[in-house]
Parts: sequence; structure tokens; C-alpha cells
Amino acid sequence: MGETLLTETVSETSSDGSEAGETLLEREALHNIRELIRIDSVNTGDLRTIGDGEARAARLVQAALAEVGLESEFIESTPGRGNVVARLRGAGPDGGAPERGALVVHAHLDVVPVDGQDWRHPPFGAEIHDGLLYGRGAVDMKNFAGVLVAVARSFAREGFVPPRDLVFAFFADEEAGGVWGAKWLVEHRPDLFEGATEALSEVGGFSVPIPAAAAASERSEAPDAGAATVRHRRAYLVATAEKGVAWARVTARGRPGHGSRPTTDNPVVRIGRAVAAIGDHRFPFTRTPALETFLERFGEARGLAFPDAAADVEAELAELGFTGSLLGAGARDTASPTVLDAGSKTNVIPGVATASLDLRVLPGHEETFVDELRAVIGPDVELEVSTWIAPIASPVDAPIVSAMQQAIEADDPEGLVVPYLLPASTDNKHLSRLGIAGYGFVPLRVPDGFDVFGQFHTADEHIPVDALAFSARVTERLLRLA
Ligand SMILES: [Zn+2]
Repeated sequence: MGETLLTETVSETSSDGSEAGETLLEREALHNIRELIRIDSVNTGDLRTIGDGEARAARLVQAALAEVGLESEFIESTPGRGNVVARLRGAGPDGGAPERGALVVHAHLDVVPVDGQDWRHPPFGAEIHDGLLYGRGAVDMKNFAGVLVAVARSFAREGFVPPRDLVFAFFADEEAGGVWGAKWLVEHRPDLFEGATEALSEVGGFSVPIPAAAAASERSEAPDAGAATVRHRRAYLVATAEKGVAWARVTARGRPGHGSRPTTDNPVVRIGRAVAAIGDHRFPFTRTPALETFLERFGEARGLAFPDAAADVEAELAELGFTGSLLGAGARDTASPTVLDAGSKTNVIPGVATASLDLRVLPGHEETFVDELRAVIGPDVELEVSTWIAPIASPVDAPIVSAMQQAIEADDPEGLVVPYLLPASTDNKHLSRLGIAGYGFVPLRVPDGFDVFGQFHTADEHIPVDALAFSARVTERLLRLA
């Protein structure tokens, strides 16, 4: 196929020297990421239109691991949908069994479509311009796949035995719910994750600025305020929880009739009222453990505590720009009406009208959310919840979070790891069914104004090349410690 992760790695240097990383680990990581981006593994969500991109990417990963003697299993859940899983055995301090359960480090090999988007640089070109790598998957998430391959190869070359088993997993189909990827493997091949207690993947690990609060900078100018010197200038967000997702349908029924003779129970009017009520409703601001810890640590670092009142917290979050909007989205349940369906002819009052809802639910609200929604829409429409993927939450003070802090600090002494709640979903939800606690942490140090989350699924998806080198170094360190 002309696709190789390996032999070109050490020597390949583009004309502008952009692949000339400092170390073999960094050079290989960048090389792998570019090779993976060059494989079009777009997931349309439709088996009829998906090619074999994921399988080719998976084979590429497998070949790279095999070259350094790492055995892996290639699993095609259905033709073209490739997954690869490898286990690096760990040992305890005395050389016996590891003291901790296995850690699953995973990345998905599929990407979202690029159709209808205006790209300045080719989405599968992996071109580097002005120190930025462009391409679909540059942040979501061929970057981490490439880093994981480089780290696994580095460990294998060194003969390093980690303190716990490391399961390197590369999944298909994350972007369409993991049906042929993580979900499939959890259901059909749970043995691959045997003994695993934690998992590490997207979405988190990127740096965001910690703006010094005005009051804090005044304090630090006071003559006796030497101790108030700001120690942390950047936060690295780690997703310790994810919102759940549900789909629902609201149905209004009434007596059909002629448009010339209005009725009091016209279902179109009733569905309209229900949809408007949902649109007007704001679910309560909720301080989940992830948000609570974020407010505490981030507030401490910027030298100004967040207020107690929900409205004031939200006002302050709004001032944090993209960081605040990400945090704000994880502070409330939401219900968005997305599809309306009623009637077929202008002079006919239909007997039924429906609306579809996209629901996002916080951990801890699984039991109460539907009742609350029912109260909002009122008694004269029906509510039916179809798909339901429960939210997940992992301990915020786990040793692995301390290991992240250590791994970051070694490279960025001004970095502070801070938990947050991801308002979206990842493959960690599937792994949680096996009792595996998931964390979103793909370390990336980026300039202050760079919104990594904002790069997901957009045109001209890109990432600074030096952030990828950072990613490789910190991930390698973290997997040694974790
Ligand atoms: Zn992703």
C-alpha cells in the first residue's frame, strides 16, 4: 500500500525540517500521526458507504507494533471495520504480579466526514504549515493513536516492564457510537480487557490559560505578597466524567378534521406548546464532583475563589471564554428539540404530531431527569425515551490523576491538572460497562488562545507540531508512572 510507519521514520525529514523532532519518540509520533491522517478512514455511519479505511489504519498500527516484537490482535468486527489490541505485561516492584489492575489506553481510528466543509489544506494531506499540522484527525484523534504507537514501540525497544499491564487499543467506529468498535469488543471480546480497572483516552489533556484574577494581581503587588506569586499559569483539563445521552419523542394526539373548522385539541398546536416549553426551560445548575473540584482548584490557581451562587459562577465562567463555555455545558442537563413532524396537507388538521429531542444528562440525574422533563412538557403530550446511554463518572482524586500532574509538571512546571465534566461521549462509556473507570487526557500544550476542543470536527482541523512532541513525552512519562 505504500503505507509504512516504520522504516522511513528515522530518516524522513520534510524540506522545512518539520519532522525533525528532538528524540526518536517525538519523531516517530509525528510520523505515525501523519501516516494515519493520510489514510481516509471517514466514518459516515452507514456500512454501505464506509470504505476499509479503519482496517487499513489498524493494519498499519499492527505492523508498527510487530516490527519491534509487540504482538497484537487484529479484529475485524465486520469487513473493513478494523480494531487492534495489544497488551504489554506489567509487573510489581518485586517482579511478581502488578499491584494494580490493567490500564487501557485507547484511541479511535475513524474520523468524521469532511463533505460540505471548506478546507484550505487537503484533509488527508497531513501538511505542515507554519508549525501547524493540518488534517482530519489531527486532534480527533489520530494524534493520540500515533503517540500511543510511538510510546509502545519505545517501551518495547527498551524492554521496559510497566508497573501494571498496559492494554493498547485502537478502535473503529467511535464517531458512530462504537457499534463496530469499542461496544462490539466489550460485548464479544471482554477477555481483551480482562483485569482492567482504568482507561485513558479523549477528550481532555489540552492546556487552557488560567487568567490571574484582578484582585489577585493587586495582592501580588503589595510589598509583603511574595508568597502570592502565581505558580500555575495553565490548566490541563482531565475529563473525569461524561454526560449521558438519550433520545426521546414527544407525541401529541388529537381529533383529525378539516382545516376550516378549528378544534381545541389540534395536535400541531399542542406539540408546538410542548416544544416551546422545552426550549424555554433551563435545567438547574449542578455542581457535580468534577465541577466542584474544577472550581476549587482553578479558583485557587487564579488567586480568586469562585462565588457560591450559581448565577455568579456562570457569570465568571462566561468570562473564561472557550474554557468557560465548555465548563458551562457540563453544568446543566439539556434538552434540545431537533425534529418536528406533523401533518401533510394545509387544509387537514392531522391526528398526530411529534417532536424528537436530544437529551444530555449529568451523572447522578439518571433517575430524576425524565420526571423533570415530563413536568416541563405537561400532561397532554406523551413522552417516550428510546435510546439511553448512561452518564459516567470516575473518581476525581484517583492516583492516576496525581500521575498526570507529575507527568505534566516534569515538562511544564506551571501546569496544573484540573478535572472537568465532558458534555459529550467517548468510548470510555462502553468500557465502563466492564467496571473500567475512564479518563479523558491526551496531553497537549498549546498557546493560550488555542481552543483544542473547538478543533473537533471542523474544517482545517489542526494542531501545533510542538504540542504533539509534548504529547509524546508526557504520555510516555505518564504510562511509566500510572
Ligand atoms: Zn474522538
